[in-house]
Amino acid sequence: MILTLTDVHGFYGKSHILQSININVAAGEVVTLLGRNGAGKTTTLKSIVGVVPAQRGKIMFEGEDITCIPTHKIAERGVCLVPEHRGIFKLLTVEENLTMSAKRDSAWKLDDIYRIFPRLKERRNNGGGHLSGGEQQMLAIGRALMTHPKILMLDEPVEGLAPVIVDEIVAQLKLINATGMTILLIEQNLEVCTQLADRHYIIEQGRVVHCASNQEFLNDDAVKDRYLGVN
Ligand code: ATP
Repeated sequence: MILTLTDVHGFYGKSHILQSININVAAGEVVTLLGRNGAGKTTTLKSIVGVVPAQRGKIMFEGEDITCIPTHKIAERGVCLVPEHRGIFKLLTVEENLTMSAKRDSAWKLDDIYRIFPRLKERRNNGGGHLSGGEQQMLAIGRALMTHPKILMLDEPVEGLAPVIVDEIVAQLKLINATGMTILLIEQNLEVCTQLADRHYIIEQGRVVHCASNQEFLNDDAVKDRYLGVN
């Protein structure tokens, strides 16, 4: 396992939000976190990167305990979160956005990013603020790759995007995963989740309440209905 969360508890002030999160992710897997709004999915990713530090439980990454180390040190180890609101620099060009986050020893070079995201190559000299929502998302993912992550965590990467762009990003995430990249994904679009993921965890009220392989999940209407209300 590359990432393991064991009985993780997290708080916002006095609010006990994460009440027992247990998750394993193997190297090279695509794993999703599913659950209704407010279930604790984003907070789980924030606990992994130390923004909402786990106050109980343990988070292990590549066999080392990262529960109590600062966020920048967790990032240095290769844990990368692409947040829901993308955080790209609107006044910088696409290429500047990509190169400014590049790590010198990164396996990902500009050409690799442009191979996966040809639209970014076309738009390389455009300002980040002039990109469509889909292009901004591609840039956020490209920027994350330039930091040489070992696990890429994405918070609702296709939310609000047109279906044709969603298909494009799904195909790009498959290419990225095919390079061996581990992906942990929050996504409300179940079709996207089931196209991409090997396994799914369902979170409800800050607890992992169900875990299934993609095949088990696809065939389990009762689970979808009970936890996600989609049938
Ligand atoms: P969503 O899809 O709505 O983002 P989620 O499963 O990602 O859902 P979280 O964002 O992790 O849910 O939120 C879990 C709970 O924590 C919710 O009840 C939310 O209101 C609360 N919460 C989130 N952020 C904060 C914050 N900064 N301060 C206090 N409470 C928060």
